[in-house]
Amino acid sequence: MNQYLRLGKFSFGMGDRFGHQGKAQLAACVKATELGAEFIPVWNKSNREHTFIGTEPASLRAEADHAAASLGWKKSYHVDADHIRLETVDRFIAPSDFFTIDVADSIAKPAAAAADVQAFVDRHPELIGQISIPYIDRPFEIKRAEVERVANKFLLAVQDAGKIYQHIAKAKGAANFITEVSMDETDSPQTPPELLIILAALADEKIPLQTIAPKFTGRFNKGVDYVGDVKQFEQEFNEDLAVIAFAIQKYGLPPSLKLSVHSGSDKFSIYEPMRKALKKFDAGVHIKTAGTTWLEELIGLAEADGDGLEIAKEIYAYAIEHVDEFCAPYASVIDIDKTKLPAAASVNGWSSQQFTDALRHDQKNPAFNPSFRQLLHVSFKVAAKKGDRYLNALKKHEAIIAKNVTENLFERHMKPLLLDK
Ligand SMILES: [Zn+2]
Repeated sequence: MNQYLRLGKFSFGMGDRFGHQGKAQLAACVKATELGAEFIPVWNKSNREHTFIGTEPASLRAEADHAAASLGWKKSYHVDADHIRLETVDRFIAPSDFFTIDVADSIAKPAAAAADVQAFVDRHPELIGQISIPYIDRPFEIKRAEVERVANKFLLAVQDAGKIYQHIAKAKGAANFITEVSMDETDSPQTPPELLIILAALADEKIPLQTIAPKFTGRFNKGVDYVGDVKQFEQEFNEDLAVIAFAIQKYGLPPSLKLSVHSGSDKFSIYEPMRKALKKFDAGVHIKTAGTTWLEELIGLAEADGDGLEIAKEIYAYAIEHVDEFCAPYASVIDIDKTKLPAAASVNGWSSQQFTDALRHDQKNPAFNPSFRQLLHVSFKVAAKKGDRYLNALKKHEAIIAKNVTENLFERHMKPLLLDK
């Protein structure tokens, strides 16, 4: 296996669309670490986000360095080129040290060369037959035809990941970065036996994989709770952990290899099963969040009242006018009930408290409105269009926003994931 930069056991991916919350986000990692739950911070931003906002990847590196220096953070921290592909990776190579290679587009495309599929199956007789994996109560029964089917579906994607990995390694040096492979943005979840076959193929590509983001069962909508069968998720998550531990041994993958949970923010109903499973396997995890912080910016602005609340209301008014346009690109990751979206005129009459009650992710609050929250989640472009007026509001109300950003990540995410008893 190639050399690699090692990623800590628990890591927390944070997105910061407008680049002002780095310190407030890191403060959550500081708090958790002081309490014995060390979360290594990773700042992530995708090509799409950079393009929408008009930023360059180097700005995220600058922000991460500034946050770490300001808070005196002595542990490692990373900058993630999120969901990159061969066409988009180049401008990320210098400033990033974590690369999320997105191969979802190559899944189920016209398969890899038939000869490659046959060679893969021939190379892995151990994948055929009865496979007993520690901590999975029944052995997997995998037939040769099944390995062929999975290879047909995923081998091209894995080979693409290998090409992108090699491209980065050549430019940056293999020892200088962390590799994640993401398959979450695809239509169907990968089963644990599929994950095993995919890991065998990734090991063949000599990718020193440290995190893998499968698509899990259920819906991982942006900024709201998990929707699906929690029991089924729990079983799948446990089996994925068992498969990963097995594959590390079997295929010489890095011992730090772990799952990455995308759209991992706000999935409150699965944090407890996840915490138990991680403990049982003594496994690490990478939680990738992004938009949850932008929503805390809006909450902070609304809480500040006056001009802050005004700007938050303007953003909503514009968003609801363009609801179809804003939601279309995110159709598979949001579930908005349009009948639950308040009219702009009524929101314009809201108090600061009414706005924050509707937006803040507090499921116990009867005024919490998940449709309102999801629409604002996908409407960050509206704030981007406001340019300096929005950025100046962030500066003016920094303290109240920072408090919300830190509290959200620490209280609602890190604590239930690792610290609750
Ligand atoms: Zn993702």
